[in-house]
Amino acid sequence: MRKIAIYLDRDGTIVQNREDYIKSIDEVEFLPNSLEAIGKLAELDAYIFMVSNQSLVGRQIVTQSEADAINEHIIEQIEANGGRIDNCYFCFHAPSEKCICRKPSPFLFLESLRDGYRFERAVVIGDQYTDIIAAHNLELPSMLVKTGLGKKTIQSQPTLAEYAIEDLLEAVDEITQWLNASKELAVVETKTAQ
Ligand SMILES: [Mg+2]
Ligand SMILES: [Zn+2]
Repeated sequence: MRKIAIYLDRDGTIVQNREDYIKSIDEVEFLPNSLEAIGKLAELDAYIFMVSNQSLVGRQIVTQSEADAINEHIIEQIEANGGRIDNCYFCFHAPSEKCICRKPSPFLFLESLRDGYRFERAVVIGDQYTDIIAAHNLELPSMLVKTGLGKKTIQSQPTLAEYAIEDLLEAVDEITQWLNASKELAVVETKTAQ
């Protein structure tokens, strides 16, 4: 049992979004601070999951093995910078396939529970409306990074501004505060019980 599960979106949250999708390793561009941020998250009592819609496979823009190579490259870079991804959950379907896993469906997030991961709390972090809606569907807190499509998301859905943070590095601070706050709460409860 770990203290928290952190569900990270990929494009716009860890790496730069591309309107025409990331189709090769050469097109992978890490967002400023994101590798450092995941390195710091890896020091917490946390599971770190990557949850991503990658419809470019279903749309036949890249093959499954090309998509796998891109994801492997991203994970290698994260690990080379002191970070870690405990597991990945991807939807490779095109929207027209009407699958059950594409975000904002809770399906991919719940896969982590089916895989046996157990944690006290969880948070969803992403740059799009679908990430926030997925968190709502799961009754989980969420953070909207202003990287990637984050700023556009807030413009089109101003009520989402309350979830906004600058980037993944700010998420590290927020999560660390949460974990410290719950520790203090636990101390108070113990004292009260005595
Ligand atoms: Mg995204
Ligand atoms: Zn799917």
